[in-house]
Formats: sequence, C-alpha cells, structure tokens
Amino acid sequence: MLSYQHIYHAGNLADVQKHALLAVMLDYMGQKPKPMSYLETHAGRGVYQLNAEAAVKTGEAEAGIGRAEDWFDADHPYMRALTAVRAKHGAQAYPGSPALAVALTRAEDTLQFCELHPQEAEALRGAMRGSGAKVHQKDGYETVMGICPPTPRRGVLLIDPSYEIKSDYKTLPNMIAHVHRKWNVGVVALWYPVLRDGLHKPMITALKDKNFPKVLHHEVSFPAAREGHRMIGSGMFILNAPYGLEQEAAHLTACFAEINS
Ligand code: SAM
Repeated sequence: MLSYQHIYHAGNLADVQKHALLAVMLDYMGQKPKPMSYLETHAGRGVYQLNAEAAVKTGEAEAGIGRAEDWFDADHPYMRALTAVRAKHGAQAYPGSPALAVALTRAEDTLQFCELHPQEAEALRGAMRGSGAKVHQKDGYETVMGICPPTPRRGVLLIDPSYEIKSDYKTLPNMIAHVHRKWNVGVVALWYPVLRDGLHKPMITALKDKNFPKVLHHEVSFPAAREGHRMIGSGMFILNAPYGLEQEAAHLTACFAEINS
C-alpha cells in the first residue's frame, strides 16, 4: 500500500527546482502554434494548501517556496502559474505539477495524469475539473507506456515517482529507453532525490550510458529538511530538453548556491 503523501513536502526546495524547470519547458513548448501532449506518471493531488497541518508540521514549504519566490520575476512562468492557482484556490495554495501544467498550456493541448492513490486521485479529479485534463487512477508506468507515442506527438512527459519502491532506481533507465524508442521526439523529464548514501547514483550512470539526445542533467544541493534526513538535494534528467532550459538551470544553480553558502 502506498503511504507517501506529497502534502508533507509540497513547495519544498526539490519542488522549486522541478517546478521551475517544468514551467519553463511548458512555456517554451506553448510558444509554437502546434498543439502538444502533456503526460505524468505520478501526478499527486494537483493543488496543495500550504497551511494544512501536514505542510506546516514539516516546514518544508516555508524553507522552500517561502524563501524562493524572490528568485523569480513576476512574469516567470512558475510565478505566473503560482499567481493563477492562488487566484483560484486561495492565498495559501501551491500548484503541484498538474496545476502548473493546466496554467501553462492551451485549450488545444492534451493533458493526461496518472495517480494510483485513491484519495490523491479523487482530489486530483476535483482540482482538474473543467480543465479538460484526463485523470487515470492506474499505474503510471504501464499507462504511459501504453499511451506513448501520444497524439499530438509533440509533447512532454514528467516522471516524478516517490521512490517508495526501491526497485524504481533500477527499472527507470529501461522504462525511459522504452518510452524514447516509441516516442523519439518526446521531451522526457525524470525527477530524483540526491541521497546522502548515493542510492540514486547507479541510476544516473545507467541513464547516461543510454546516450539519449539533447540531455539536460541538473542537480542542486540543499540542507536536509530534518536531522538525519537522507535527501540532500534533487535532480532532473531531461531528454530532448527544449531550448532555453540550460539558462534556467544555471539561474537555479546560482540561487541554490546562495542558500548553501
Ligand atoms: N508530480 C507531483 C508534483 O510535482 O506536484 C508530485 C507527485 S508525488 C512525488 C508522487 C505521487 O505518485 C504520489 O501521489 C503517489 O501516490 C503516486 N504514485 C506512487 N506510485 C504510483 C504509480 N505506480 N502510479 C501512479 N502514481 C503513483
């Protein structure tokens, strides 16, 4: 049974890295007058209330988006999505990746989200109501492999597991290679935690060995959320990375360097 709930971590520094890069990718893809597909294997509930007991308890959002909002101009796509979600869901709301995608895509784009946890999927359906996005309460890996190549073929896939199942680190490189074989033009973005014990490292080596095209590999480090916490940073491995993303990655690297100094 799945126990991970993103509300404890929503808006933390790992989300800031992932969501800022995702927002820039979607903004760029949306500038061309051709429709696109947007898919997620692990969607979460879509919108988080940062004054919820679980979020306040960990303090991760306060140490994350609470301090990072100043890193971005008001017209940065991440901030545009944050403003749009707060206008709709209240001043304490924070956009998970599905809400970010809804805010930054157009009516002609096709959005599909997988979320296995029954309560999270139910909340996601509520958050997505009226957006036209499709929610699958199914295993994200199998569902996305079945959908790829999506229609339209231009598009982005976000793979954002909670890594509760440790074999994910081993199976992800082959899963991504499989998706890439079926959908060679797709932008595929994988998020992963940077762990003190280095458990993520063989996965990165295996991904690099695949020689995917136009890879952007970006890692940031930050203080552990709590003493003894294993996550000391986060990473994004993106293939077919859109133009302009390196510049955003460099901006994030500089911002994270400040909090570590
Ligand atoms: N992508 C979200 C965001 O950035 O706002 C956060 C997603 S959270 C890290 C991971 C989610 O994956 C959890 O809500 C969990 O219930 C869900 N999940 C876990 N295993 C899954 C699977 N095999 N298929 C689909 N969803 C899964």
